[in-house]
Amino acid sequence: MLDTKLTQRLRQIVGEKFYRDDQEALVAHSYDGTPMLQSLPDGVVYPANTAQVSEIMKALAEYRVPVVSRGSGSNLCGGTVPVEGGIVMVMHRMNRILEVDMENLTATVQTGIITAEFTAHVESLGLFYPPDPSSMKISTIGGNIAECSGGLRGLKYGTTKDYVIGLEAVLANGEIIRTGGKLMKDVAGYDLTKLLVGSEGTLAIITEAILKLVPPPSSKKTMLAMFKDLYGAARTVSRIIEMKIIPATLEFMDNPTIRVVDDFAKLGLPLDMEAILLIEQDGDPETVERDIERIREICEFEKADRIDVAENREHAEKLLTARRSAFTALARLKPTTILEDATVPRSRIADMVLRINDIAKKYDVSIATFGHAGDGNLHPTATTDARDHEEIHRVEQAFEEIFEAAIELGGTITGEHGVGLVKAPFLEWKIGAAGMEVMRGIKQAFDPNNLLNPGKIFAKETRKRVVIDRG
Ligand SMILES: Cc1cc2nc3c(=O)[nH]c(=O)nc-3n(C[C@H](O)[C@H](O)[C@H](O)COP(=O)(O)OP(=O)(O)OC[C@H]3O[C@@H](n4cnc5c(N)ncnc54)[C@H](O)[C@@H]3O)c2cc1C
Repeated sequence: MLDTKLTQRLRQIVGEKFYRDDQEALVAHSYDGTPMLQSLPDGVVYPANTAQVSEIMKALAEYRVPVVSRGSGSNLCGGTVPVEGGIVMVMHRMNRILEVDMENLTATVQTGIITAEFTAHVESLGLFYPPDPSSMKISTIGGNIAECSGGLRGLKYGTTKDYVIGLEAVLANGEIIRTGGKLMKDVAGYDLTKLLVGSEGTLAIITEAILKLVPPPSSKKTMLAMFKDLYGAARTVSRIIEMKIIPATLEFMDNPTIRVVDDFAKLGLPLDMEAILLIEQDGDPETVERDIERIREICEFEKADRIDVAENREHAEKLLTARRSAFTALARLKPTTILEDATVPRSRIADMVLRINDIAKKYDVSIATFGHAGDGNLHPTATTDARDHEEIHRVEQAFEEIFEAAIELGGTITGEHGVGLVKAPFLEWKIGAAGMEVMRGIKQAFDPNNLLNPGKIFAKETRKRVVIDRG
């Protein structure tokens, strides 16, 4: 229970109707996109501007009450579950595009804006903001920044971090800092902008962002390459890059994913394929034609069983949407869907997929895999039922082994979804004890009283590495 003097102060700051502690609001903000995690906050606050965020933080610091910043709660790592109670700060009211600067090709936004609304706006002005997480119709720019989200265009255009050049953020003590700016070059001290990108709400509340925009590509072409041989598909990915072709999109779906996506999107995909690559190139029409032709040749060389080039934009969008809906399609199979994002060097994609399949078999669980093949970023997705505790235990064991396998293959435990709560016990596997100490030091410098999203990134206990039985 919060001190009533504090709740009165919060109500004064944001206005009566923008502080809530009724049961409906508390339950609605007790969970996020991550299955099987729930914890009630003590209150929910909806600030309208940076000054209010600053006043809220000052009040919370005085009363030592934790705060979880929240965009749309679509994250998949338990990042917005208020495990230590306190306040959930919802950023949706701070959703204005403050400026699109046509001279500097930048946009300044409040971070509660929905990603797809922002990208549609800049596109209407003839500009392009490439980061495109599949959740972009619901996610916020603030959530994208705090998770450093990637998307289908990551291979060629990079991820959120490559487009954030300046930030305004409110510290745990309520002070407001500005980092970076409308600058393409800036080496004045430590790069706090990059440090805050991917900080998962644990270092500061990000209130405004200056985002880099680029000219849009003048044409695009999309194709599907279908393989009965998984290795053929994986070799195709490596060979495309080796041939110095960087497609805008290079996505992978395995057979179980192909089946559910086809059932969901009714595309008439061949269900006997082991893997499908969805490939898109963009740029000037000549380069696009040439690259698509060369990619087709590589696919043929690697014995693709079928290659379809989208006839028009409408058809291409349908294919892209189908891939974007892979998670939703899989979620229809069973009551609980657990999606992970183990990432390996792209040359190890086939090894990783085979390892995932072996691990799924070993633990007798259903795991479908899709993902950003060009980035080596795979999404092994378990379809299960949270009520079946014994099966859930096996799924957890399988994922632990999948993380271990990713690290063994030179990869990481998360490529784009963040550490949050669910991967915190595994973080040390990736960055080592010394790396953890440095991160703890950074956290301490920003947030000495551990009020910003406590319980995330830093686990109370690090999981012991399992010994993989290859028998
Ligand atoms: C169907 C589906 C598809 C997805 N596809 C992708 C994908 O392709 N690529 C990808 O990378 N992710 C994907 N995600 C995961 C998720 O959508 C992203 O992590 C997204 O960026 C989260 O945005 P959000 O606004 O929902 O943030 P939230 O879930 O609300 O918050 C995420 C984290 O950011 C922090 N945060 C939020 N706003 C702020 C702020 N203003 N200041 C400081 N911290 C803040 C929170 O505390 C939390 O730690 C997907 C999720 C779903 C459900």
